[in-house]
Amino acid sequence: MRLDNFLYSGFRFGEDEDLLKFKFRMINSILVIVAFFTVLFGVLSDLGINDIGPIHSKVDYVYSFLSLMLVLFLRRSKNNYKTTANLLLVFSLITFTSALIFVPQDEFRMIWFYLLVFVAYMLNGTSSGILFTIASIAVILTVNMFLELHLSQTAIMSSVLGLIIGSLLSRIYTNKITDYENSLQEKNAALGILASTDDLTGIMNRRIFKKVSERYFETVQRDNSDLTLLLLDLDHFKKVNDTYGHQVGDQLLIRFVEVIGPILRKSDILARVGGEEFAILLFKTDAEGAFTLAEKIRKEVESMTINCQGQDIYITTSIGIAQNKESDKAFNEIYSRSDKALYKAKEQGRNRTCL
Ligand code: GH3
Ligand code: MG
Ligand code: MG
Repeated sequence: MRLDNFLYSGFRFGEDEDLLKFKFRMINSILVIVAFFTVLFGVLSDLGINDIGPIHSKVDYVYSFLSLMLVLFLRRSKNNYKTTANLLLVFSLITFTSALIFVPQDEFRMIWFYLLVFVAYMLNGTSSGILFTIASIAVILTVNMFLELHLSQTAIMSSVLGLIIGSLLSRIYTNKITDYENSLQEKNAALGILASTDDLTGIMNRRIFKKVSERYFETVQRDNSDLTLLLLDLDHFKKVNDTYGHQVGDQLLIRFVEVIGPILRKSDILARVGGEEFAILLFKTDAEGAFTLAEKIRKEVESMTINCQGQDIYITTSIGIAQNKESDKAFNEIYSRSDKALYKAKEQGRNRTCL
């Protein structure tokens, strides 16, 4: 758990940030590996066990120190990821160039550029991969032009061609991964919509309404502003089902939503919270304002009809209203007051609005 916390720089990631989360894990691992192994190279050289020369061993110490600084820099903000990755890649390019120049006794020092290109693709995507491939090749060819690298011309050519091949393969791989990630996010978004809407009417379902209204409730209580809840229940709906069939009942529900939708403002939230029960959440609206709206809805519903085999079918709705109070601790308290008001409306004979 503590290791995870370190690898994610102490951040939390949302469900849609899976790839970024993975990248944080990767870059922190790379930074620690770099910091450890470059110090090891420096120490081994200073002890005379593995000679990389006095200049490059100092470059390695600096590279190690900068890597640790990057770990700290990344912890400051999630938005620092791209800068961190770019800085790491630039520091690496400089260090590997130093190895190329100052460690001529190492015939295998070209290998670091291969790692650089692969990591550039993984951390920052295609454009960064291409950029660091070109930069690596440019460095190798330029240094080779002006300095004696103690490498055969064939070795230089093989290295450059190898870098190009490695770069192309990495590019195919990263492109595919990005495609997968994008399509996964699209599918997740579609699933999210499916899971939050009601099949029949296409409006918000009860589950998501509870979540959303709880969140809004907290904001409203903090800001001391008005929030009002309308609970609507169709009257004698069972009779409609029993008389005309379930399908006609369904059509009435759809029509009901079509009729009240246009009456609401964009900021109002309409949800189906039960079989023939609906909820409307109104912001910056007090009970009086809500009552006016509720009456408008009630009258619209009263005059709405659907046609079944040449016969007009009517329905009415009862509405319960409750507004938030300063003493409310949870959204549920408003909900149960609305429910009581709705019960009163039913008791008093239906097709009416109660506060
Ligand atoms: P009241 O005026 O007291 O509200 O009477 P009511 O008949 O509307 O109330 P009750 O709760 O007894 O019946 C609700 C009915 O709604 C029963 C159920 O079959 C029906 N219902 C629930 N969900 C659906 C649905 O998705 N489609 C259809 N067609 N009917 C549904
Ligand atoms: Mg009911
Ligand atoms: Mg009913």
